Amino acid sequence: MLPTLDRTHPDYNAERRGFQLLDPYEPDLIVPAATADDVRRAVAHAADAGLSVAVQATGHGLPRTTPGGLLITTGRMNGVTIDPAAATARVEAGVRWEQVIEAAARHGLAPLSGSSPDVGAVSYTLGGGIGLLARLYGYAADQVRAIDVVTADARLRHVTPESDPDLYWALVGGRGGFGVVTALEIGLVPVERLYGGALHFAADLVPAALRTWADWTAALPDEMTSSIAIIPFPDLPQVPAPLRGRKVAHIRIAYAGDPEEGADLVRPLRAIGPRLEDTVGEMPYTASGAIHDDPKGPAGYFATHSLLRELPPAALDVLLGADSVVEVRHLGGALAKPRSHPNSVGNRDALYFAGLLTPGLTPGADTRHLRLAHDGVRQALTPWATGGRVLNFLYGENATPEEVRRAYDPADRERLTTLKARWDPSHLFRHGLPPA
Ligand SMILES: Cc1cc2nc3c(=O)[nH]c(=O)nc-3n(C[C@H](O)[C@H](O)[C@H](O)COP(=O)(O)OP(=O)(O)OC[C@H]3O[C@@H](n4cnc5c(N)ncnc54)[C@H](O)[C@@H]3O)c2cc1C
Repeated sequence: MLPTLDRTHPDYNAERRGFQLLDPYEPDLIVPAATADDVRRAVAHAADAGLSVAVQATGHGLPRTTPGGLLITTGRMNGVTIDPAAATARVEAGVRWEQVIEAAARHGLAPLSGSSPDVGAVSYTLGGGIGLLARLYGYAADQVRAIDVVTADARLRHVTPESDPDLYWALVGGRGGFGVVTALEIGLVPVERLYGGALHFAADLVPAALRTWADWTAALPDEMTSSIAIIPFPDLPQVPAPLRGRKVAHIRIAYAGDPEEGADLVRPLRAIGPRLEDTVGEMPYTASGAIHDDPKGPAGYFATHSLLRELPPAALDVLLGADSVVEVRHLGGALAKPRSHPNSVGNRDALYFAGLLTPGLTPGADTRHLRLAHDGVRQALTPWATGGRVLNFLYGENATPEEVRRAYDPADRERLTTLKARWDPSHLFRHGLPPA
C-alpha cells in the first residue's frame, strides 16, 4: 500500500518541514517515498485524484508554495553508486551532496557540488548547479548522463540525450517542471584535493576586500573559482563583541591546481591586510563544505539575486551600501563555454552572480520591507545586470513566473513552454517552476 500522511497524521509537520522555515508546503497528502515505484504510484494517485504534485528532498530550494495537492518527500531515497571506471555516480532523489562527495572520494573523484554539502544533489544539478569547481568544469547540469523520471502519465522512464532528446533537454534546466526524478547518473571529475578555504576581513577592510577581490577576478585561470560574502552581524548580545553591529568580508577560494600556484594567486588577497581568520591551504575535497561554511540547520531567509556582466567600482558601491548579506560569485570560465550535452540551463553570458540574503526570519514573517530593500539594490545594479536569473537561487515568494522566465534564454523559454504542454498538459507539476 502507498504510504501517505494526511493533515491529521502526527508526523505530517515533521515530514513537510525542510531547510527553509518560511512558508513550508501545506499539502493535503504527503507520500514519504522510499522507492521509484512509490513515486510512480504517488503520481498516478495524484493524477487520478486531481491533485498537483510537489517534491521535496531537503527543502533548500523551497519555491512559492500554495496549500493543497500531494507532496512527495524523497529523503528516504538515498542510494549512491559509483562507477569508478566510467567516472560516474548514480544518485537517488533524496541524496545530499555530502554522500556523493564521500563515496566519490574513495575513488579519487569528486562531483560538481556546491557551497553546501547538505543541498540535494538531484535538484541542484537539474537547476544548473554552480559549484566550487564551476569555472574549471562548468555547470553540474552539463554532467548529467541519464535520468530516471516519473512523468505526468505515471510512467517511470530512463531518459538519455539519445533516447529522448527533448525530454532530457527540458529536464536538465527545467528541474521539477517535467516530472519527478527518481535518480540521476552524473559524471565525476578527477579532483581529490584543493587549495582552498576562506579569508575573513573585519569591517574597516570590507570595502578594500570587495574592491581588491573584484579587480583580482579580472585575470584568473579557470582553475580558480571564488566568491565573496559581506555579512552584517546584528547588534545582539549573543554576537561576539568585536563583530556586533559590524560587517565582515568573507572571501572563499577553491583552486583546483598546484597548491604553490594557488598560494601565489591568493597573495594579492592576503595583502589586503590583517585577516580575522585565514583557512586557505591544501585540503581534501571532502572538506570543501568548510570553504563557504553555509548554515547547517533549518533557517528562515529571504533571498534575491541579479546576474551581472561586469563589476565596475560604481556597482561595488551599490553592494557596499546594501543592508543584507551580499554574496558575489565569480562566474565565466567553463560556465560560459558551449555545453557538452545540450540542455536548457541559460544565462551563460553572466560574469558575476550578485545575491542578497536576509537571514534570521521566523515563520510567517512579513517580508514586504525586505522586498523593497532588495529591489532597491537590484534596481541600482541595473546598468550592469544581464536581466537573467539562476533557477537554483529563486526561492519562495520570489520564484514568480516572471523571475522563472528570466532563468532561460528566450528561444529556450519558448521550447520549454511547448514541451511543458506536451509532457505535462494538466500542469500536474505546477510547483516545479516550469516557465509559464
Ligand atoms: C545554503 C544553500 C547553499 C546553496 N548553494 C548552492 C550552490 O553553491 N550552487 C547552486 O547552484 N545552488 C545552490 N543552492 C541552491 C540549491 O541548489 C537549490 O535550491 C536546489 O534546488 C536545492 O535542492 P534541494 O533538493 O536541496 O531542495 P528542495 O527544496 O528539496 O528542492 C527544490 C525544488 O527542486 C525540485 N525537486 C526536488 N527534488 C526533485 C526531484 N526528485 N525531481 C524533480 N524535481 C525535484 C522541486 O521543485 C523542489 O521544490 C544553495 C541553497 C542553499 C539554501
